[in-house]
Amino acid sequence: MKIHEYQARDLLSAFGIPVPAGQTITNPNDAAKVYTDITTQSGSTLAVIKAQVFAGGRGKAGFVKLVNSAAEATVAADFMLSNKMVSAQTGKDGLDVNTLLIAAGVDIANRPPNAQGQSVPDEYYLAITTDRNTRRNTLIASREGGVEIEQVAHDTPELIFKQPINPQIGLQPYQANEIAFKLGFKGKQVRQAATIMLKLSELYHAKDCSLAEINPLIVTDPTDTYPDGQVIAIDAKFNFDDNGLFRHKDIVALADPNEQDPREVEADKHGMSYIALDGNIGCLVNGAGLAMATMDTIKLFDGEPANFLDVGGSATEEAVTEAFRIILSDNAVNGILVNIFGGIMRCDIIAQGIVNAAKSIGFSVPLVVRLEGTNVEAGRKILEDAAADLPTLQAAADLGDAAQKVVAAVG
Ligand code: GDP
Ligand code: MG
Repeated sequence: MKIHEYQARDLLSAFGIPVPAGQTITNPNDAAKVYTDITTQSGSTLAVIKAQVFAGGRGKAGFVKLVNSAAEATVAADFMLSNKMVSAQTGKDGLDVNTLLIAAGVDIANRPPNAQGQSVPDEYYLAITTDRNTRRNTLIASREGGVEIEQVAHDTPELIFKQPINPQIGLQPYQANEIAFKLGFKGKQVRQAATIMLKLSELYHAKDCSLAEINPLIVTDPTDTYPDGQVIAIDAKFNFDDNGLFRHKDIVALADPNEQDPREVEADKHGMSYIALDGNIGCLVNGAGLAMATMDTIKLFDGEPANFLDVGGSATEEAVTEAFRIILSDNAVNGILVNIFGGIMRCDIIAQGIVNAAKSIGFSVPLVVRLEGTNVEAGRKILEDAAADLPTLQAAADLGDAAQKVVAAVG
């Protein structure tokens, strides 16, 4: 599960990580008032307006804007709420923006000029996620934070530092200090940065995150109170492990259905996992691994899956009916491949369920069914007998046969 940046900032704050104050708006007419509130509080005219969508690359897309007056805030808010945001992470159609965050702007310190004479803002990358190779949650950090981090990871991976986190004792202060020094923090910043890392790790574990990311973590321009500058977070992104959500009602309450595919929401209600894809062959499968293999096999025979769908362990008639409905609500679907392994549940019962479901919904697109497992012969017989009532139904001998049949049927 994902949450918005403004919600992520609240979580950081709750765990003691400093972030600038902010408020959200959904109507551009509220921008001026919120701008005035925020800047009166902060004592600086600088504020930042940020689109709240589940995709990054907002800065480059023009959906993070620094403003210095209520009038500028209104113009920026109006633009963001009436245009789709297109970034490297959204696909070419882009995303509607429904909510904006207006936050106190910060003066980011500049680094001393580099060899090319350029002085860049003091922005760092900091994240925790699971490293599947080491089987450890891992702290990831880089001095090259900001909007180019993907490029940095690709071109210069040596500039990204990692610290594995011991599952029993968590991130240790010496590890955080080591990373803070490697990142080049100086003076009081070392302690501030290391503390942020330790708190981020606490948050990550307490809330069963799968990603906790701060990008950028910045150093503010020095002030009298913070002569070395202060280390703070100005952008955050969190993902949560869905399997841990049952024990985090507070996180579940943050879900924004506007940002989710309605079919995914519907599938979730019925205990199924659905992910929309770009193709035209609907897939109805029991088990995530089998669903992946089904999509691979369709692609092997030059077809394009329209979705990933795992109906879960028990492919009951009710579940299959619901799954057909969800698959068919995608207008691009012009063929369906059902691939079910009957282990505990017998294939004849599954076959009858599929036939009943197809009849009750009454669709006209080709339907190819591959069954395997207990009582498979009886199951195939039911499918063959049903062909009179369901002319688009074909039974397949195996997965390869099923994929070829459905690819041929959709043309
Ligand atoms: P993203 O592009 O979606 O990751 O959005 P960010 O919130 O990270 O903003 C992108 C960039 O805008 C940051 O890397 C900063 O360089 C800049 N930025 C964001 N907020 C502020 C701010 O308050 N002050 C200044 N000076 N720059 C900011
Ligand atoms: Mg960012």
